[in-house]
Formats: sequence, C-alpha cells, structure tokens
Amino acid sequence: MKKVVGYIERKSMLYKTGVEYGDYTMNHVVGCSHGCLYPCYAFLMAKRFGTVKDYQEWIRPKLVSNTLELLDAEIPKLKSKIKSVQLCFTTDPFMYGYDEIKKMSLASVKKLNDAGIKCTVLTKGTLPKELAELSKENEYGITLVSLDENYRKKIEPGSAPYKKRIEALKYLHDKGFKTWVSIEPYPTPNLIEQNLDEILEVLKFTDKIIFGRTNYNKEISAFKTHKLFYNEQAAKVIKFCKKHKKLWHIKNGTITEL
Ligand code: SF4
Repeated sequence: MKKVVGYIERKSMLYKTGVEYGDYTMNHVVGCSHGCLYPCYAFLMAKRFGTVKDYQEWIRPKLVSNTLELLDAEIPKLKSKIKSVQLCFTTDPFMYGYDEIKKMSLASVKKLNDAGIKCTVLTKGTLPKELAELSKENEYGITLVSLDENYRKKIEPGSAPYKKRIEALKYLHDKGFKTWVSIEPYPTPNLIEQNLDEILEVLKFTDKIIFGRTNYNKEISAFKTHKLFYNEQAAKVIKFCKKHKKLWHIKNGTITEL
C-alpha cells in the first residue's frame, strides 16, 4: 500500500458542477497518482492556478483531512438541493494502491447515503467491494479507453490494470448496481491502433456508456481525419447501445459537421 504525502484542510467540500452531466461533486484529494498524460485537464488547471507546481507534485496526492467534518456541516444545508454527488471531478476517489484515500471515499459515500443522497462514482483505480454494502441507488463507473496494457502504462502510468477495473465493475453489476463506463478521452489511431467494437463487447454488461474525444492534445490535431474518425466511433457507440438497449451520452464536441 502507498501512503499519501500529506494532508491539507479545506473550507468547503460539496459544490455544483458546471459540466454537461452531473449535479454536485466533491474532491477530497489534491493531486492524483494515476498521472494521466492525455493530458489530464484537472492537472492543467491545478498547475495554472498554482495548486501544484508540477507533474511530480501532482502525482503525490494529499488528502483533505477535514472531509467528513465538512460533509457533516454542509449536508444539512444542501440536502434539499442535491440530486446526486459525483466522486470526483478533479481527482480520483479510488486511487490505485491508496488505502487511506479509499477509506475516506467510502466513509464519504456512506455519509451522503445516510442522508438520503445518491452518489455516482468514477475511477481509473479499482472499485472496492465494500461499495456493494452501500445504497442501491448509487451508480458506479470506470474510465476505460483501451484494453491494451502497454498503452495504459504509457498514458495512465499509475492507474489500475484494465482487467482489474473491469472485474471490480462487474462484481458491483452482479450485486445489482447500475454501472457505467466512460470511454474518454478516446485516442485516435496515430496514438494506438485498436478496435472500439472489442472494447464495447467487453463492456456489454454495463448500463450506460459515455463516449468522448481527446482534447488539448497536439497529436490528435495532427491526425488529419480525426473529425471523421470521431464521428464514426460515436456512431458505433450509439448503434451498439441501441442494439443492446443501453443508455449513452456522447460528449459535446465529439461529433462535428464535416
Ligand atoms: S485519473 Fe483523472 S484526475 Fe487522475 S490523473 Fe487521470 S485524468 Fe487526472
């Protein structure tokens, strides 16, 4: 097990997101050991606003030590407004190998559930089995952009192996939970040659698929037919979801007019 490098205190925890899907969110860790190199938007923002000075600092996570106290104070005030809380937007709640972060995330979900608030969880780590003991309303998700471990090691160096991610999600699916997958940011063929159909097939058991293009990456723009490519891949996801009666969401900007 790895240890967080330090602790910080915050003044608030729950906030409403401005993103296209999602309601409230919480980020109880600064930094993320998964260290994704797509690049990670959360890292770019943390660097721009001076929260971290560089990548090395970003991949050494710090835990917000007063997370549970903040939730105790904020839940009664916000309860009537919140439809759901997503963990997390600017970090990962189940950072691979970090037991202390896992415990804090589980305690947070439990606290929110005890107040009648549903949680949606997204990780590139492994979803712990303990989640099966929490509210049946919760929805659990993983990010998965490939099945190729060499690509994962190159692009998401600190994350959980794909197989472990999928197994953990399947476990929760089999326990009766709604599960979802975020296939985002999906790479173009100049980054990796792969077949999206194979990825979709492995994820057939999930209830919902979110698909999105890669942004902020020069190599994508260098791939001349990237717009056509993303239109075709998005069409594949929609066709697959219609055929297998799944929900889907294609992120803004993924489908474009040519
Ligand atoms: S898991 Fe998410 S927050 Fe963590 S480095 Fe990767 S993209 Fe960024």
